[in-house]
Amino acid sequence: MSATTSTAVAAGSTGAPARAGTQIRLTDVVKDYGLAVPAVAGVSLTIEPGEFMTLLGPSGSGKTTTLNLIAGFETLTSGTIAFNGEDVSTLPPHKRDLGMLFQNYALFPHMTVAQNVAYPLRERKVPKPEIARRVAEVLELVQLTGRDDNVPSQLSGGQQQRVALARAIVFGPKALLLDEPLGALDRNLRGALQAEIQRIHREVGSTFVFVTHDQEEAMSLSDRIALFNNGRIEQVGSPETLYRAPETLFTARFLGDSNVFELADAPGATAGWGGQRWDLDPRTVAERARATGRAALVVRPEDVHVAEPGDVVPPGANAVPATVTDVQYLGSYRTVVLSYGAGDVVGRARVDASGTGVAVGQPVVAWWRVDRQRVVAR
Ligand code: ADP
Ligand code: MG
Repeated sequence: MSATTSTAVAAGSTGAPARAGTQIRLTDVVKDYGLAVPAVAGVSLTIEPGEFMTLLGPSGSGKTTTLNLIAGFETLTSGTIAFNGEDVSTLPPHKRDLGMLFQNYALFPHMTVAQNVAYPLRERKVPKPEIARRVAEVLELVQLTGRDDNVPSQLSGGQQQRVALARAIVFGPKALLLDEPLGALDRNLRGALQAEIQRIHREVGSTFVFVTHDQEEAMSLSDRIALFNNGRIEQVGSPETLYRAPETLFTARFLGDSNVFELADAPGATAGWGGQRWDLDPRTVAERARATGRAALVVRPEDVHVAEPGDVVPPGANAVPATVTDVQYLGSYRTVVLSYGAGDVVGRARVDASGTGVAVGQPVVAWWRVDRQRVVAR
């Protein structure tokens, strides 16, 4: 699809030129249903124009409530929400001009694909020839050209979700809000639609706010991720930042696998764990860990090396004795499952499949470079 066509798709409902995207700013947002903990307990977040922002977190962490507050389906207990600097906190949903996509397609079953997609344009009193043109363009964008006259029941689940996506973007919304839109689809179809959503985001250039509890999905799609925990944002950053530089143990555990050593004392120049004394590179100590003093040292499996006892550990590395409890062959690499110290901490090392073997039960030394560890708050 050419840039000209996608610009037309993103054009505003007034026929104004395409918006580059809308900035969405949440300031001290609270939603309290009167439960023990507010559903959203003080969230501040700026989503930049054209950004693909994912709200990630476990079930019940406040992602959907936050999205519904942005959409205006729920009222704020306190705090403000602004679009491009304009306060929309009390604006009803239809005046916020947002596209929405949910897990269940919510298509009109008796309407054709074309009628479903045209619906938001008819509501906005867009002239008929303009409607026909925009519906054709957006159906091309979601690769459903030629299916105009089908009704939803004649389409697969993935196709129905693409119709819903077309309907959500056809009027050039200020932003597209997506709440677990791929949750009902099987694994293969999910992957295909993730790629579609990413391509459409690039072509339309509008702000996307995407909710998921699936860390892999969040990592593969997002410019940035806001990680939710108990109604608060634990950390915001690029997928790489959250993976490489987690601030908290929650973040380290939620995104990928970690070897976790809960430190006995506040992090200083060194840290103690299970009779070991380790060097700390100040650059690898998260500010929150420094501030709270309750810290854990985490190392990703791909950064852990496994050596024989007595092998020389290189300078600038920390080491700990371990026992191999399992070796898992995973094709291109192996995972060595390790039990550290007195044995109550289990960890993993990812090693090259072609490397020399280690046997279950074997005592080893696990080591990692000091600059690959991360000291986080716990
Ligand atoms: P998530 O989307 O991250 O799974 P939600 O935003 O749906 O989480 O829910 C956050 C918390 O708010 C949960 O404890 C949930 O039970 C509660 N909650 C959500 N909606 C309502 C509501 N309408 N009334 C009362 N409690 C609600
Ligand atoms: Mg939800």
